[in-house]
Amino acid sequence: MYSVPKLEDYSPASLDKAAAELLSALEAESQAAADAKAFEEFRNRWMARKNGILSQINDMWLKPAPGPSKRDVGQRVNALKTAAEERINAAQSRAAGSANDAKLKAETVDISLPGILRPLGVKHPVLRVLDELIDVFVKMGYSVAEGPEVETDYYNFEALNFPPNHPARDTQDTLFISGQEKRAQRDRLLLRTHTSPVQIRSMERLKPPVRVICPGKVFRNDAPDATHSPMFHQIEGLCVDTNITFGDLKGTLEHAMHSLFGSSVKTSFRPSFFPFTEPSVEVSISCPFCGGKGCRPCKQSGWIELLGAGMVDPNVFGFVNYDAQKLSGFAFGMGVERLAMMKYDVDDIQQFFYGDMRFLEQFA
Ligand SMILES: [Zn+2]
Repeated sequence: MYSVPKLEDYSPASLDKAAAELLSALEAESQAAADAKAFEEFRNRWMARKNGILSQINDMWLKPAPGPSKRDVGQRVNALKTAAEERINAAQSRAAGSANDAKLKAETVDISLPGILRPLGVKHPVLRVLDELIDVFVKMGYSVAEGPEVETDYYNFEALNFPPNHPARDTQDTLFISGQEKRAQRDRLLLRTHTSPVQIRSMERLKPPVRVICPGKVFRNDAPDATHSPMFHQIEGLCVDTNITFGDLKGTLEHAMHSLFGSSVKTSFRPSFFPFTEPSVEVSISCPFCGGKGCRPCKQSGWIELLGAGMVDPNVFGFVNYDAQKLSGFAFGMGVERLAMMKYDVDDIQQFFYGDMRFLEQFA
C-alpha cells in the first residue's frame, strides 16, 4: 500500500516523479473503493486532518522545502489536492450507485407473473333500465325530481284525489307506519305506494310550466312471488303547461317508446281509471320481440301492457294552487322491474333482489 516517501531533493524531476507515484496510487485506490464502506476508508486514508495522505504531503514535502523550492513544491501539492478531491467525488458517486443497484436488485418485480384481476362493477339491471328511461325524457327537456320514501297520507293519497274510502287506502295494499292513531289522517306516515307524491311536491315547489320525471322506490303490502315484490321501482312523468292536450300525451309516449324499443313499435291506448287523471288510459306497445306474432314475453298476445297515463284531473291542480282554468297537463307512470324483466327475459322479479352474483354477472 502506498505511503508518502521522503523527498530526496527538490529538483523538478524528483518532484514530478513523486507526484506521479502518488497520483497513480490515488487512482488505483479510488477504483478499488467500490461500496460505501470501502469508500469511507478510502476517504479517511486520504483526507483525514491527522495523518491523512494529503496532510502528510503538506508536512513532509511542503514544510521542509527550502525557500527557493517552496513555490514549486506548493504548486504540485495544490494540484495533487485538487486531483484527490476529484477522485474522491468520483468514488463517492460510484459507491452510491452500487448501493442503488443493490436496492433495485432486491426490489425487482417479476413482470411476467400474472396480475390480480379486479372485476369492474356494472350497473344493476334495474338501474340500467331506469337510467335509460331517464335519459329518454331528459332529452325531451324533463328534469329529474325525487321525494321521500316515507310519505304522509296527504301526499300519497289525499292530494292525488283519492277519496277517503278508496280501496287503495286499505291496509291490504299500503304499508302504514305503526303507532300514529293520534295523528290526523292526512298526517299519518306510510311507505309511498307510488312515486306520484313527488308530482304534488314538484308542483308545490315549481311555477308552471312543469316537466319532471320522478324515479324511485315504492312499497306495497304484497307477499313476494315471481311477479310481486313489497318493494319495486317506478318512474312517473308529469307535464303541465297551457294548452296541453291528449295529443301531447300520445306524442310524448310514442316518442319515448320508439326511443326505448325502436321505431317499429306501435302504441295502443285503452280507457282506464286512476283517481288523479281524467281521462285515464292503459298504454300497450306492440311486442318488440316478436313484432306482434306472439311469443313468451308478450304471452302470445302480440301486445305488452307497459304503463298507465292520463290527463291530470283538475281537482289535483286545486291542491297545489294551480289555475285549472288556464292549465292542463298529463301524467304517466310505469314499473321499472316489469320492463327489465321483459327486456332481459327474466321470469322471476325476486332475482333482482337476491344479490346472487351468478344472476347479476350476466349483466356485466
Ligand atoms: Zn311477443
